[in-house]
Amino acid sequence: MRLCRFDFEQSDQNRLGIVEDDDVLDVTAALDAIPPQRWPMPPGDLLIRYLPAVRARAESLRATAPRLKLADVRLLSPVANPSKIPAAPVNYRAHEAEAAADPATFHGQQVARIQEVGLFLKANSSLVGPSQGVVINHPDRRTDHEIELAVIIGTRCHRASRDTAMSFVAGYAIALDMTLRGKQERSLRKSCDGFSVLGPWLVTADEIADPGHLAMSLSVGNELRQQANTADLVIDIPDLIVMASDYYTLEPGDIIMTGTPDGVGPVRVGDEMVCRIEGIGEMRVPVVAPVVAPAPVS
Ligand code: MN
Repeated sequence: MRLCRFDFEQSDQNRLGIVEDDDVLDVTAALDAIPPQRWPMPPGDLLIRYLPAVRARAESLRATAPRLKLADVRLLSPVANPSKIPAAPVNYRAHEAEAAADPATFHGQQVARIQEVGLFLKANSSLVGPSQGVVINHPDRRTDHEIELAVIIGTRCHRASRDTAMSFVAGYAIALDMTLRGKQERSLRKSCDGFSVLGPWLVTADEIADPGHLAMSLSVGNELRQQANTADLVIDIPDLIVMASDYYTLEPGDIIMTGTPDGVGPVRVGDEMVCRIEGIGEMRVPVVAPVVAPAPVS
């Protein structure tokens, strides 16, 4: 099943949809399958925590659900409240070579092999959906696109083994790990507001037989920038889950960004990034200027 979160009219926000070809079936009523909660809320994302129940309810609503055009809705991140966003640094063989060959851009000390440096975290506050666009936070610095397969954790996971790792996966989405180049810590440079894009929807794990063999591409305008296959990951998906859950308990809705292939490059205000991953679909993301805060009224 392909599940999206979307805004429609001004009054119709944070709705839940099933994506079917070019249509969205509005199954927002399926969110009633989430039990009422109170403070302190459980960690993670409630939609993902209760996904089996929500999904069953959505399936029962499918036949009578209002049908909207995909082109008419504003797609938001299918995960609203992850407890964390662990991400893999340089994790494709060709990107490793690209980064090592250009120390001026990629800063030598940061291209150490993933086996040595492990993972990093992106701030949850950087998470947006494709309709919100990527805001150029520092126009004076280079901001790069990084397309990545996102793995969405479905159930709490502590110290997974390679054999059990995939059983904790709820589904997959396309991610952009937007990046300011520079010498600062990754967790800072990659956590500006809007620098973690997730979409266009969540594809449940049962629909993707082998996430380790998915073609992906990213274009800016007519220019193909990144083209790869998840078969070229240095550390594959099960081992990324093993590695992440060895250090922190993964919660429902946690988003693992699996790393980007070669071809990363800069974007500017006005660009549109077209991201595709086999089995998931196409995600279009505009690059937008920062909103200038209005002067205070005296
Ligand atoms: Mn990345």
